Amino acid sequence: MSFFRPEIEAMAGYTPGEQPQTADFIKLNTNENPYPCSPAAVRAALETARSGLRKYPHPMAEPFRRRAAEVLGVPADWILCGNGSDDILTIATRTFVGQGQWLRLPYPSYVLYKSLAEIQGARSEEVRFQPDWSLGDDFAAARPGLRLAFLPNPNSPSGTVLPPGRILELAERLPCPLLVDEAYVDFADVNCVDLVARCDKILVSRTLSKSYALAGLRFGFVVAQPRVIEQLAKVKDSYNCDALSIAAATAAIADQAWRAENRAKILATRSRLVAGLRKLGFNVVDSHANFVWSTHPAQPARPLYERLKQTRILVRYMNYAGWGDGLRISVGTDAEIDACLARLAEIV
Ligand SMILES: *Cc1c(COP(=O)(O)O)cnc(C)c1O
Repeated sequence: MSFFRPEIEAMAGYTPGEQPQTADFIKLNTNENPYPCSPAAVRAALETARSGLRKYPHPMAEPFRRRAAEVLGVPADWILCGNGSDDILTIATRTFVGQGQWLRLPYPSYVLYKSLAEIQGARSEEVRFQPDWSLGDDFAAARPGLRLAFLPNPNSPSGTVLPPGRILELAERLPCPLLVDEAYVDFADVNCVDLVARCDKILVSRTLSKSYALAGLRFGFVVAQPRVIEQLAKVKDSYNCDALSIAAATAAIADQAWRAENRAKILATRSRLVAGLRKLGFNVVDSHANFVWSTHPAQPARPLYERLKQTRILVRYMNYAGWGDGLRISVGTDAEIDACLARLAEIV
């Protein structure tokens, strides 16, 4: 006997990266920022908590939208906020993709997209990246029932970027909207926000989890033309962002000096991590994110992951069916990366 929707029973469910509840791990597995968030964000959350949480928050997170609009140079009504950008991805899937219809994703990329299609009773089509991490025109090919395409840029696990010009080309060819997931864009040199005004099929999602060091807060947003935002807003929970997160996120996005300083530190450490891994014989893809993707020609990835874990260094072992496996290592502090490299030097 079962009352469950068959789609739900059949799906495996998304497995997030391990979150050990002890502090003694060097945690390089979920691309969290190794530095604290802007102190202004903490103050704003505390002030909001002190003044009381009796009333519902603003349904559209208006204070954040106004601030983000100034920072991004778009009108406030081009922004919709979410409980993390995963919430945005869920809202977009529910808005565009019906049961039995198709979602398109590049492969390998963010594993959650496929689960979102499954929950929706939709099907997903994976289009492989080329060996150089570019994306062929097949990503934009027509197919009956195709309703939405997701494209992380920078991509995970590779950390590679497609140039905005290429993304515009793909969007214009696609017979459906294209959501560019810019979770890691603050660690890259290009972004696609300007494309939203040029093409109404482009949506750009962002998160405060990575570059703003607020993964525990749960706040993300999407930039799209107002005609799109209007429809997405019908699908979201009425109060999908709480008052504490709206206050903290608003202060965080206003503190661009903090973000820039944090970014500079992470990019410097990323260079050291890439150089260190290459010296140990790893193949490392040039990264535009706060993590690197690496494989070793002589050392299988899973035992490397396991041996690091034995010494309480946690990296992400990724195994993509039919494609291959490797290690995705988040950029931590210099001390954390030194420890990880020293341990790897002993192993390989
Ligand atoms: C981390 C991540 C997100 C999710 O971010 P949240 O705002 O924490 O939900 C979205 N997309 C990609 C590719 C990510 O790596």
